[in-house]
Parts: sequence; structure tokens; C-alpha cells
Amino acid sequence: MNRFASWARSQISAKGPMRLGRFMQQALSDPEFGYYSQAGRIGKAGDFVTAPEISSLFGEMLAALMIYLWDLSGRPANSQIFEAGPGTGQLMADLRHVFARLAPPLAAAPLHLLEASPALRSVQQDRLAGADICFHDDCTALPPAPLFGVANEFFDALGVDQAIFLDQSWHHHLIGLDGDSFAFVTGPPLSARELRQFGCPAEPAEGAIHEFSPSGIEIISQLGQHIAKFGGALLILDYGGSQLVGSSLQAVRAHERLDPLEQAGAADLTHLVDFGRLADSAAASGARLIGPVEQGRFLLELGIAARAEALARQADSQRRHQLRAAIDRLTSPAWMGSLFKAALLVPPGSGLPPGFTSLDQTGQEQNR
Ligand code: SAH
Repeated sequence: MNRFASWARSQISAKGPMRLGRFMQQALSDPEFGYYSQAGRIGKAGDFVTAPEISSLFGEMLAALMIYLWDLSGRPANSQIFEAGPGTGQLMADLRHVFARLAPPLAAAPLHLLEASPALRSVQQDRLAGADICFHDDCTALPPAPLFGVANEFFDALGVDQAIFLDQSWHHHLIGLDGDSFAFVTGPPLSARELRQFGCPAEPAEGAIHEFSPSGIEIISQLGQHIAKFGGALLILDYGGSQLVGSSLQAVRAHERLDPLEQAGAADLTHLVDFGRLADSAAASGARLIGPVEQGRFLLELGIAARAEALARQADSQRRHQLRAAIDRLTSPAWMGSLFKAALLVPPGSGLPPGFTSLDQTGQEQNR
């Protein structure tokens, strides 16, 4: 039994069933026994591969868009660079590589990293040696200055609570014990305040499941307020959609899916990010969330295929093959192209930056 599992069993035995969001958050990001408390989880040799680990062209495209937005903001001299959940630090290293060549003030700007895992902080510190780094446990102490940042596969790793519709009302869907194993149990009905907070649909089918990520909403609201007040932009890339229904909880270990409750603490747990809810919270905090658009469409509009072909022309056949395979993996609907989405948190306004102009044709509301 892993240390998370023994902690969760004793908590549930003493206090009764717990919310899924708390269970997930502790299983993933408890600094001592959470899944991310050990380095080596991300990458080919670990449990799952993320876009920056597939190709540095991913970071190049994001850097180009960030430089464009920084330029458009009048190149504020006091800008800070931000990342939520930097993992191995690969994406930030790729961004800084481009900044050093094309926007040296951004390469010299202080780096503010939101990271819960002490082990990953140390990996990031090594990977980003030479940068002026400040680590954060939350978003309450960011300097009062424009923020240009990214969050790749961060929101899907935050805890999500569930509600289940039974006998004409929404109930908490909690984690309890069935013998020694974790199991979903039906909890008390949601109060009127919780129903509003969860945003439960009004006419669900019996047994319907609805998800709500309180920490995701809190973080987007804090960053939305920050960007509305001080300026900047946060690019969010994640596995998700809009108007999601049902349970999206899943676990992955060694590149294979498994039962989410069985290996909690020893496997990656994720949920689908509800971009519609993030957009509503961004608007309530005075900011604007553009998108989401599909990751494939976003990267292709930013020119990832043309950039890969330019590199391929100078490469040997093995490298050419690798480049094309990486672009396919990042953009094709069969891989990450459709399931992953891109969205941009900016101050209120209008207009669509590069990467998002397809929203013009489809209409932002339809795409949300
Ligand atoms: N962005 C990276 C890593 C994604 S994995 C990549 O694309 O490869 C999720 C990251 O978020 C890890 O660095 C993990 O430690 C961090 N994380 C997860 N929950 C967190 C929380 N509640 N607060 C801060 N960091 C968290």
C-alpha cells in the first residue's frame, strides 16, 4: 500500500467519505507522498509524455505568440514570466531559448513558477540554471506587474469534485471505502449554494454525473484579476472541452490507462478541463478567456508545420522522420490535435490573436 493510500484510508475511517477533489489533490500533489513528489514521472521513461517532451517546436510556437502579445502591450519593462506546473522545466527552457534570440528583455525577466512538488522544483531549478526564479505555492504573492505565462497540462491535474443526480436531486459523489479498496459513495444532497457553485445542469438524467474543479476556478480567478489589473496574457493548453458531461476522471501509469481509484498516489490522475467554466470565471474576475480552439488548429495557424518542414530540409532522413512524427502527434486529431485545446487569458477587449482566428468563422460561443 502506498503512503497516500494509507493516509486516505485513515482519513476516511476517522472522518467518513471525502470529496474527490481533495482525494485527487492529495494523491497528486502532497509534497511528501503525492504522485508528483517524485521526479521522473513525466517523459518517455516515466508514465506519460506531454507536448513539450515531444518536440521543442511546441515551445517555439508558444514563445512566438508570447513575444507578439508582449510587443502588442508596448513591451512593459517590468514584465514577469509565469508558468503553472512546469514539470521537468522543458517548456520554460524552450521558451527562454527563443526569448534569448528574439526578445532578450523577456529572457532577463524574473521567472515565477507555481509548483507544489519539492522534487520537481529542484529539477526545474537545475534545468533553468541562470534564471532569476521565484517559486510559489499559490497565486496570491505574484508581483504587481504584467504577467506573460503558460499552463500546459496543469489544470487537468487539479482536483475535481463530482455530483451525482439520484432520486430527483444532486448529491455529492464522494470517495469512501469498500473493505480495503476506495469506492465512490453517494453523499448528502448539495445545498442551494453548492448547486450554484457546481453549476449543475437543471434537467439531468437519473444517474448523471457533473464535475466541478474548485481549485481550477480559484486559480483562474486570481490570474484573471491579476491580468485585468496589471496586463499580460496566460496561454492555457489542456486536455478538455466545453459543456462536458459525465465523469472524466482517468488514471495513467507507464503509458497505460488503469482504474483511477486503484492506484491513486502511484499513478497520474487527470480530469477533462471545463473551458466553459474557466471562461465564465475569467469574465467574472474582469478578464477575458479567448477560445478554446483545438491544439492542432492553434499550432498549425502559428506555423508549426512550415517551421518543421524548413528544419526537415536541412536534416538527415532519421531526423526528418522524427520531425514529421512529432508534428503529427501534436496536431493530428488521432493524437493530441483535437482532444487538447488552447485558450488565452487576457485583459478585456476584442480581437483575436494568431492561433485563435478560426474563432471568427465558427463563432466563439459555438466553440466554447
Ligand atoms: N507542464 C508540464 C508538466 C505537467 S504535469 C508539461 O507539460 O510537461 C503537472 C504539473 O503541475 C507538475 O509540475 C505538478 O507538480 C504540478 N502541479 C500539480 N498540481 C499542482 C498544484 N495544486 N499546485 C502547484 N503545482 C501543481
